[in-house]
Amino acid sequence: MSAHSPRPWRDIARELAREPDRSKRRNLMRELSDSFDPRSATCAICNRPCDLTTCKSDEHGHPVHEHCYTTSLKNAARDGDC
Ligand SMILES: [Zn+2]
Repeated sequence: MSAHSPRPWRDIARELAREPDRSKRRNLMRELSDSFDPRSATCAICNRPCDLTTCKSDEHGHPVHEHCYTTSLKNAARDGDC
């Protein structure tokens, strides 16, 4: 029995990057959002894959790289400064 096992995030993303067909891309996008590699997530700040074992969560619970989060905090602080 071959259950409909979700493909790893990275495989789908790679296929999506190569797929020129627009409707197929949309299917892949949907698959990408449905299937979730528990060890990797997308950084809410830079949109690059980040490792859940090393990345942090922002105040909304989104996975973010530690350095991205620190940078965004610094930027927010600087914006509010003047
Ligand atoms: Zn990031």
